Amino acid sequence: MTTVQCQLCPKGCIIPKGQRGDCRARVNLDGKLLTITYGYPCAIHIDPIEKKPLYHFYPGSPILSLACAGCNLHCKNCQNWEISQANPEDTPAFKLQPSDIINLTLRENCNMIAYTYTDPFAFYEYTLDISILAKKYNLKNVLVTAGYLNKEPLKRLLEVTDALHIDLKFFDEQMYRKVTTASLAPVLDTILLAKKMDVWFEIIHLIIPTLNDDFSLIKEMCIWIKENTGEDTPIHFSRFYPQYLLKNLPPTPIETLRRAVDIAKEVGLNYVYIGNVWGEGEDTYCPADGKLLIKRIGYSIKEYNLEKEGRCKFCGRQIPGRWY
Ligand code: SF4
Ligand SMILES: [Zn+2]
Repeated sequence: MTTVQCQLCPKGCIIPKGQRGDCRARVNLDGKLLTITYGYPCAIHIDPIEKKPLYHFYPGSPILSLACAGCNLHCKNCQNWEISQANPEDTPAFKLQPSDIINLTLRENCNMIAYTYTDPFAFYEYTLDISILAKKYNLKNVLVTAGYLNKEPLKRLLEVTDALHIDLKFFDEQMYRKVTTASLAPVLDTILLAKKMDVWFEIIHLIIPTLNDDFSLIKEMCIWIKENTGEDTPIHFSRFYPQYLLKNLPPTPIETLRRAVDIAKEVGLNYVYIGNVWGEGEDTYCPADGKLLIKRIGYSIKEYNLEKEGRCKFCGRQIPGRWY
């Protein structure tokens, strides 16, 4: 038998001999399923954790961030399409084994690694092996992901993951499929599993004019979050800028983002942010006394009013997240 089926993500690609899966990174070589990006990251940078964005996860930390080419989603608005939608063999890459990544992280004085830019689930084995090794060195692992993975591999990876930035791109199946080629239900399952396994996560919802700026759906999504993962789940409403295949749409009006923030707060979510807008909606407030806890401008922290392990210094309320 020469055809193989990949069981990694819900796409379940059936791959004939010599062909590749939908993510471009997994191939059928003589009847064996192989990942061709293992050890070949195409991007490595050091970012502030705020750029991921994660706001409740060791604020102010530099994080070694890496990606391999390919992705199991094909979002029409992808901002990293040059690497996510490219064939790995056509993309310039470094040659770095997991131990090299650990050495690089330590050398750069980072204590955490992000698997990001494309989707780490498309370079799953590499992410998993680095993550396992990272734990031995007391390093933290962060996935920046669209959350589209089957349960068993997800569970294995979450066992060695400390935090997730998870994109909840649409709150209706039809639009999910149309714009991303993925689907909503598995993404919700990923969120539920992260919650169950007590892995820290923050939800990012990019608002794209005419595609998902329906306020009734935004409200439904916020209600789902509150009921299923709790009022303390941070949500970031991000501003869309025209790019890749959606250059015909305008940037998200600031008013739309503000209205989404109001809706989330009315529903009862405690930590609601705006992303991709300089100087607006970036700060963290204490839900108990309304005091400013973390003031951010762009990716830097201007004021920090949390005590050790994340207590409000004014009233002592424990703020959810992971803190120094
Ligand atoms: S990981 Fe890639 S090859 Fe495997 S099912 Fe998903 S898209 Fe297909
Ligand atoms: Zn307080």
